[in-house]
Formats: sequence, structure tokens, C-alpha cells
Amino acid sequence: MKIQLLGATGSIGLQTLDVVRKDPSRFFVVTMTCYKNIDKLCELIEEFHPKYISVNEEKDALKLIEKYPNIEVGFGTQGLMKAAVYDLEAMVVNAVVGSAGLAPTVEAIKHGLNVALANKETLVIGGEIIKPLLLKHGAKLFPLDSEHSAIFQCLKGEEYKDVHKLIITASGGSFRDYSRAELKNVGVKEALNHPNWTMGSKITIDSATMMNKGFEIIEAHYLFDVPYEQIEPLLHKESIVHSMVEFKDTSVIAHLGLPDMRIPIAYALYYPIRAPFKGESLNLAKIKTLHFEEVDFDRYPLVRLAIEVGMKKGLMPATLNAANEAAVSLFLEGKIGFLKIEELIFECLEHFPQEKDITLDKILNRDKMVKEYLFDRYN
Ligand code: NAD
Ligand code: MG
Repeated sequence: MKIQLLGATGSIGLQTLDVVRKDPSRFFVVTMTCYKNIDKLCELIEEFHPKYISVNEEKDALKLIEKYPNIEVGFGTQGLMKAAVYDLEAMVVNAVVGSAGLAPTVEAIKHGLNVALANKETLVIGGEIIKPLLLKHGAKLFPLDSEHSAIFQCLKGEEYKDVHKLIITASGGSFRDYSRAELKNVGVKEALNHPNWTMGSKITIDSATMMNKGFEIIEAHYLFDVPYEQIEPLLHKESIVHSMVEFKDTSVIAHLGLPDMRIPIAYALYYPIRAPFKGESLNLAKIKTLHFEEVDFDRYPLVRLAIEVGMKKGLMPATLNAANEAAVSLFLEGKIGFLKIEELIFECLEHFPQEKDITLDKILNRDKMVKEYLFDRYN
């Protein structure tokens, strides 16, 4: 199977390559992209020999052309889009972080390519335009997010009309044992210390604010066509039950496993085959207790906000996402405190007007405007 890997140097990108590495006669990496981690990309090029690579800046592309005269090299948005559709028989793995993931997903779908999607921002901001494109071009999305891979597996062989609700589990992130008062003075280092998963910095902060869970509810709404009223978050600190589906007869099917993203990645890449995985087995007798708790929307206001914004559709989800991306990046740069992330998001949703009728250009334009609005204030 040919793979076009967008965001190869990130947490999901590298774990995808680990799955690829273990089965070299099955998988071929045709394209790879990264933003600016050029040294890592060079290592990967030498191991996986892609035909086409793309980076963010032209100056880096020029250096790579000199170093690898037999590989085609692109840069910027155009380069990323080309990497998504370079070979029309490949599967795209979108492991880019942020709104930059939307345009290449759209491009891949328009060319009829299936996409294994880690980039949840794609569906948060573009769910409304993606759904009709999938139908029109006969392309499929395979979820890589652990919760969505879990639900996808729980629904296998089931009738969607029999679903009563989706239950999306949440670890609670780095500050799950803190009260809101205790969040006032927390720092970047503590925020990046996720109890169960090692991930990119942006999603780790999104987990601490639980914006990640709000995004995942929007993502599930579009992936599984289930109304927001039938999707519930549930705190589960062990991250063993990755999500559940309750059916109309009250039966609940859950998906369990140790927290290792290579499992949902492999499930999508091998689908419908279950490939053997040489990992540790889940030993429930050893774990003994699993905890579950209702999500307190006052403690985690961004979860409720994301559901409300998801229901509003139009340009509001793009506004929410862009405000979050900018605020998280300002927090990571030490320019704002942790609770200011929420404050800036609420402010942007008040400031920017709704527009119901959306296109890819309108979404990307709103994304740019909101980010400029916040970055201009702090830079
Ligand atoms: P990461 O920061 O580790 O990696 C991001 C990748 O995207 C890198 O290769 C980087 O070079 C590239 N990139 C960054 N900005 C870019 C831009 N503007 N244009 C093009 N490329 C860019 O992130 P990650 O943790 O691997 O997450 C990737 C996506 O997967 C996110 O949407 C995240 O929410 C989702 N996700 C991640 C995990 C996880 O365990 N890491 C789990 C579930 C979902
Ligand atoms: Mg997840």
C-alpha cells in the first residue's frame, strides 16, 4: 500500500512510520512532509526513500533539492497539497497539526483518495464541507484518533439507526486533579506533562483545557453522523476504555486497550485486516480498577462551548479553532497564562460574526483573521 504522509516528523507521523517500518513489504511511503524539522525529515528520507517531499519554507526546499537530486521537493501550502495527491493510488495519512490540515484533506478527497485522519481540526472547522465531498467523490475517512477508532470498531457490523449514544472517554489531561482556582498559576512545563499519552505540544495543551474533548465531540458528529445530543464525554483517568457505544436496547459495546497510538494507526492502515501487534497485552487483573466520572462543564467550560459552537455550524467552529490555536501557541511561548486561553477563545467568539454559508476559502480566511487578531496583540 502506498502512503502519502503529511506531518511525518510529528508524534503521529513518527508512530505511523513505526507501523510502516515493521511491514516493509506491505507499505511504501511515496510522499512525506514536515514544517521545519528538516534534520528529522532528512533522517526519514534516508530510511523511507519517498519520491516527493515538501516543507514549509522555500529556503529549506532549495537545500533539500541540492542534497537529494533524485527526489522532487515542494514547499508551502502548494507543496503540502501536492504531497496529498502525488500518487492517486495512495492512502493519505494526515498527521499535520492545526487548520493547515484542512486544505490537503479536501484536495485528497476531491481526487477520490481515502484519508487516515489524525488531524481533527479538519473536521472541526470543515466538517460541513467535507461530508458532501466524501459522498460526491466516493472517498472514505479512517479515524486515527483513539476515541474515534474505538467507536468505529464498536460500530462494525452494527446498524447506525440502532445507536442510542456515543460515549467518548477523556483522561482529563495534566490538570485533572486541580480545581479552577489552582489553575491560575500553572506553567507550561506542568501543562505539557500528560499523565497517559506522549503527544505533540498543541494537543497536550488541548487535553489540559479539555478543548480536545470538545473537538472530539465535533469530530465524532461528522464521522459517525450522530446528533450532538447523543454524544457524551465521560472522564476515565486510566485511558484504557477508549470509547463506547450504547445501543437502543441499552447494550454498551466498549473498546479497550493500552494507550498506544500505533494500535489505532495500524487499524486504519490495515483495515479491514487486524494485523498482529507485538505489544504488551492488556492485563485487567493487574490494573484492577477503572474509574469513570461525569464531566463537570463548569470545571471544563471549553467542552460545553465546543458542543454549542459545533451546533451553530457556519464559521463559528473555524473561529473557535483559530482562537484556540493562537491562544495555545501564546501560552506555549509564555506570553499568556493558562486560564487566559479560555478567555481569549470566548472573546473571539463574541468579536467575530457568524456566517452560515461556508466555503473552504471563507474558512481559511476566518482562520487567518482570528489568528492575526490575537497574535497582533501579543507580538
Ligand atoms: P506534532 O506537533 O507532534 O506534529 C505535527 C506535524 O505537522 C509535524 O510533522 C509538523 O512538522 C507538521 N506541521 C506543523 N505545523 C504545520 C503547518 N502549519 N503546515 C504543515 N505542517 C505542519 O502533532 P501530533 O501530536 O502528531 O498531532 C497531529 C494531529 O493529530 C493533530 O491534529 C492532533 O490533534 C491529532 N492527534 C494526535 C494524537 C497524538 O497522540 N499525538 C492523538 C490523536 C490525535
Ligand atoms: Mg483522542
